[in-house]
Amino acid sequence: DTYLNQGYSFDNFIEGDCNRLARSAGFAVAQRPGLTSFNPLMVYGSVGLGKTHLVQAIGNYIRNHFDDKVVMYVSSEKFTNQFINSIRNNVLQEFNDFYMKVDVLVIDDVQFLSGKEKTQDTFFHIFNHLHQLGKQIIMTSDRPPRELEGLQDRLLSRFKWGLTADLQTPDFETRIAIIQKKLQAEGIFIDSEVIEYVAHSVNSNVRELEGVLVSLMAQASLTRRTIDVELAKNTLKNIVMNEEKEVTIDTIQEIVADHFEIAIADMKSKSRKKENVYPRQLAMFLAKEYTDLPLKSIGYHFGGRDHSTVIHSIQSINELMGSDPDVDETVQKLRSYFK
Ligand code: ADP
Ligand code: MG
Repeated sequence: DTYLNQGYSFDNFIEGDCNRLARSAGFAVAQRPGLTSFNPLMVYGSVGLGKTHLVQAIGNYIRNHFDDKVVMYVSSEKFTNQFINSIRNNVLQEFNDFYMKVDVLVIDDVQFLSGKEKTQDTFFHIFNHLHQLGKQIIMTSDRPPRELEGLQDRLLSRFKWGLTADLQTPDFETRIAIIQKKLQAEGIFIDSEVIEYVAHSVNSNVRELEGVLVSLMAQASLTRRTIDVELAKNTLKNIVMNEEKEVTIDTIQEIVADHFEIAIADMKSKSRKKENVYPRQLAMFLAKEYTDLPLKSIGYHFGGRDHSTVIHSIQSINELMGSDPDVDETVQKLRSYFK
């Protein structure tokens, strides 16, 4: 088993300014594994930017074009576990032999090896063995080698022997292209206005972008509505908040009301029912945390309550958070929408 996922290819990896160097180096390596100066090839970048996709695409390309080459993809976590188990089961020799026989070793997320001295020793030997034989080594990391803490210097220096290329956050154009590609793959048509809205709003990473698309498509099919900007807005509101956008008391009320499935009107009403009081208090608590509004003004937005009610609400949520893990968890979850 090579642990490669056939779904990742160069064909479905969208090229943009954000990934051009890494992609073309990766493609060069895929065409001539072990024969370019990009050995090792180290691809780094933060989460969800396409590291795994790209290195798996390289692995798949090699496997599809070179019958005789053994390609092994492994996450550093899995590598570590295999190593530990091989010691436990007295088969360390087999473990080493296995890895020393591959033609292409793809090892994902090497930051995970941090602090794991024994695993690093073993990887060091495997690395040297493969490199000496001209075998291709491909690695990923969530940060540049110089920032990898807890990794042995002798490993770090080897990481720099070949080429280090980074993946950056995709720009607007690339995000548009990625969305179009995904929709095309699903055979779904969405208006360009909506695509642009989504590309504008989700600007952190590709995984998040995909998550939004999946929700959009699910929502569209559940409600049998066509996907328009309105629907996109509603979907997005629950998944991501644009970082630049200021958190307003209206958004807080909407999100909290949505979460508890109550009407915003109930949040502002005089109702003393438990199912309204708790969300109301929570929304006031979050309003204090995320807006600059004075307590008096917060009270005003909740059906004209006075500032002592707001203080009381904040106190009671604070106390609940200390005593009830469910409340604490709810607060953390709601906070995550505003980050
Ligand atoms: P990482 O390993 O850096 O955390 P992944 O490779 O898992 O990121 O990518 C996250 C998701 O985004 C995957 O589903 C991947 O297919 C997709 N993706 C990332 N970059 C691109 C790209 N340039 N074109 C198309 N899809 C991409
Ligand atoms: Mg990954």
